[in-house]
Amino acid sequence: MCSSGGPMADIDLKKLKTKKYHCKDCGNSFKGLGKKVVCPSCQSDNVELAE
Ligand SMILES: [Zn+2]
Repeated sequence: MCSSGGPMADIDLKKLKTKKYHCKDCGNSFKGLGKKVVCPSCQSDNVELAE
């Protein structure tokens, strides 16, 4: 299901609903998606939804 990337992957991400998350470890704010969200900065899963 995950092929070698390319422009299609980017389009799929934009179609899906992303939510804003906040990393409790490093304070990074990012958009996440799915059930298991990890911080792109420190790879921690200690994140919370930012409203
Ligand atoms: Zn982080």
